[in-house]
Amino acid sequence: MLENLPAQPADALLALIKMHADDPRADKIDLGVGVYRTGDGATPVFKAIKGAEARLVAEQDSKSYLGPEGDSRFVEALQTYIFDGESMTDGRIAGMQTPGGTGAVRLALGLAKKAGVTKVYLGVPSWPNHAQIIADLELETVTFNHAREDGTADLDAALNAIREAGERGAVLLHGCCHNPTGIDYTADEWSAIAAAFAESPALPVLDIAYQGLGQGMEEDVAGVRTVLRAVPQALVAYSCDKNFGLYRDRVGAFYMMAKSGDTLEAIASNANALARANWSMPPDHGGAAVRVVLEDEGLTAEWLDELETMRERMRGVRERLAAADAEVTGLGLAALAGQNGLFAMLPLTSEQIARLRDDHGIYMAGSGRINVAGLHDGNIPKFIAALADVTQ
Ligand code: PMP
Repeated sequence: MLENLPAQPADALLALIKMHADDPRADKIDLGVGVYRTGDGATPVFKAIKGAEARLVAEQDSKSYLGPEGDSRFVEALQTYIFDGESMTDGRIAGMQTPGGTGAVRLALGLAKKAGVTKVYLGVPSWPNHAQIIADLELETVTFNHAREDGTADLDAALNAIREAGERGAVLLHGCCHNPTGIDYTADEWSAIAAAFAESPALPVLDIAYQGLGQGMEEDVAGVRTVLRAVPQALVAYSCDKNFGLYRDRVGAFYMMAKSGDTLEAIASNANALARANWSMPPDHGGAAVRVVLEDEGLTAEWLDELETMRERMRGVRERLAAADAEVTGLGLAALAGQNGLFAMLPLTSEQIARLRDDHGIYMAGSGRINVAGLHDGNIPKFIAALADVTQ
């Protein structure tokens, strides 16, 4: 029976990690994997998280089961960073902890399916796992164009998707720091999106995986809040893995905003049942560490400082790349300064990407996605020169 399974393609990014590791060149550059890196190329544990973990080790008196909803104090503390006064009223929001943002996306789409959604509108390109989760749930993926060639978002495509989706459709949008393009909707575009949702029966599913890594904690969630204020119901998937540096600890949350408080309990009970069937309950440690940070003013301030340092560093890299626009023709580097987060897409051909790897030791995804945090003062000149070389 098991021999009936056809082999699945290997994860391209994992293959890239191995090729990079095997490359003996000292000045090789890894722009593949989607984790934040400091100017020294490290992905350290946040100091605020170290502080929280020390407290957890000293004070935690039980590791007994928590339940499918996880650490409810973590979920409540995080909620205030996502929803605002107007959308937090009336007891219409329930949340639960999930294994990473991936678990939250899985729950959101699984719950949407249980509620009758049959197709998910997805702006492309997107994080590859979006399409995989939709397919695994046996939902239909309907794609629309996310970005235009000039490096701005394709608002019309999003608005058409929202209008077209109908009551059996969900529309999945990235809250900020779009992966892989870095191209977010502007405030005006979010207003138009919110207005379109307000007139459409389609279900908004909002995926926030990089809050605080774009323009700021508040700024990065402003568009999502505009939508949440305008719509009767929505689902929100959240990841703490990037903005708390907790990747392998798998920290995420899932929030449901219902039309009315009366229906919330039934909706949440379905999410609860799905969580039980999928993973029973989320891992505790990372969520507990985030809870300790968020419940302590000093640790919160330290965390926000660390996040600001990361954000500023990536903005600096983006500005350096944008300033090199004239040196590297045809790649539209100038647009990178106005984009957000860890990622950007360079319109390189697969041949150019191969030459960057073979001739210059520069590793990036085959799509042309780069992790801007893989760049720093020491390697940006080399990267720009290599881009100029392969695009000549
Ligand atoms: N959504 C998006 C858009 C992402 O880019 C990612 C992570 N790469 C996730 C969700 C899931 O994050 P996590 O690692 O917390 O599962």
